[in-house]
Amino acid sequence: MTKEELVARIASYNPNADHTMVELAYEYAATAHRGQKRLNGDDYITHCMGTVHHLLKMRMDDATIIAGLLHDVTDETAITLDDIKAEFGEEIALLVDGVSRLGKLKYRGLERYADNLRKLFVSMAHDIRIIFIKFADRLHNLETLDALPAAKQQRIAREVMDIYMPIAHRLGIWYVKSRLEDLAFQYLYPQDHSSIASLVAPELLEREEYLTLVRDTLSRVLDAHGVGIESIESRVKTYFSIYRKMEKKKISDLEGVYDLVAMRIIVRSVSDCYSALGCIHQLWKPLPGRIKDYIAQPKPNNYRSLHTTVFCTDGDIVEFQIQTPEMRVEAQYGVAAHWHYSEAKKRSEKITGGLDWVREILALQDKTVDNQEYLRSLKFDIFKKRIFVFTPKGDVINLPEEATPIDFAYYIHSDIGRRCVGARINDSLCTLSTPLRSGDVVEILTERNRKVPSVHWLSIAKTHVARVKIKAQLREHELRTGSSIS
Ligand code: MN
Repeated sequence: MTKEELVARIASYNPNADHTMVELAYEYAATAHRGQKRLNGDDYITHCMGTVHHLLKMRMDDATIIAGLLHDVTDETAITLDDIKAEFGEEIALLVDGVSRLGKLKYRGLERYADNLRKLFVSMAHDIRIIFIKFADRLHNLETLDALPAAKQQRIAREVMDIYMPIAHRLGIWYVKSRLEDLAFQYLYPQDHSSIASLVAPELLEREEYLTLVRDTLSRVLDAHGVGIESIESRVKTYFSIYRKMEKKKISDLEGVYDLVAMRIIVRSVSDCYSALGCIHQLWKPLPGRIKDYIAQPKPNNYRSLHTTVFCTDGDIVEFQIQTPEMRVEAQYGVAAHWHYSEAKKRSEKITGGLDWVREILALQDKTVDNQEYLRSLKFDIFKKRIFVFTPKGDVINLPEEATPIDFAYYIHSDIGRRCVGARINDSLCTLSTPLRSGDVVEILTERNRKVPSVHWLSIAKTHVARVKIKAQLREHELRTGSSIS
């Protein structure tokens, strides 16, 4: 990408971008890195541009693009942060500094990573754009990983798999997550990667003609019913998710992978989404239990779409995903979608919504908790899959998998937690240690006069949040009464 192409690409989605500043940043980075080569022999500036390429894909604002161009200048050249501040201002300097700090965290396996994670979340809470730049930087590093020594390849790929991928998932940035996971997968499990590739390629070729047929049939029917179609295309599952599915199902071929290729239908409005679903079900019989309404109930990372899997033409099983263009953009870019220039005004309130969990974790940092304990609960709170459960009034509560009624109670309110004596899950009485499952309706039974939680709950509660609150209540009781409960 040349400087002119860079400017043209920003202009294509953000006509108000400060072009002069972007060009200046490009010249500045190119001059600063002049003479420096990457291990593959390319000029260093290609890495800056490679990073910015992904930021442009995510349609980042101009400050993020500028900081992306400059992200390695303070670490790799004689230029200081003060120079950046003087030349480009405080905002850019803060972004560059944040990325540089993240770059200094040395990854030595997940167990010793607690401190680094803590810093990473602090920087995310400070300015989420820092993590976007870091994602883009990591993407380009992975794309050019071939040139590095094998040991370093493994370290970087492992770090991406353990840390960056789950965070990209949690932030709903599919664009980043899908690329990171396939690249990291390729380096960590080269044999599995190539065997999946050799399974998938012929299968895709075979399905191509079939799916064209399905698309034609469907678009005729949708047209006839007045559904506003934007596009119908097929999407292929990432190699890594195919691999994971095959592991889970203990299969060695693609037979049971129904969603290897899904049809993605983009329609104009939410009501068009439901009309399209109706049309599909009139044409083809749906598989039981595979209809998902993520529009009425979005996933924890805000993913919205309608999914259904049907016995399609000639009895083949095909999955359909139905979205509006807005849902599509959000599904690709997640939290990053709110940084699109057009959303600039709304961004502050929108951004808080997606990042509550980061703030919550930071706010609850308990100084007495050691790194091991902190990491254990962090891994649980963030890296676990999420489930949805409901209050009796129908409010949706989003918890990690394996969370218990105790976690639920403390999530609602510390006082509900403290007074908790039992739980009703889907109208049946259950013990407080029963693991909750998505879709459960949970009612917490409380006793007004209960003053102290049970110490035993510490071993039942799975979330960091609940454990910290229980400990605080136990301590408070100890101080008040002078008695210790153990
Ligand atoms: Mn870099």
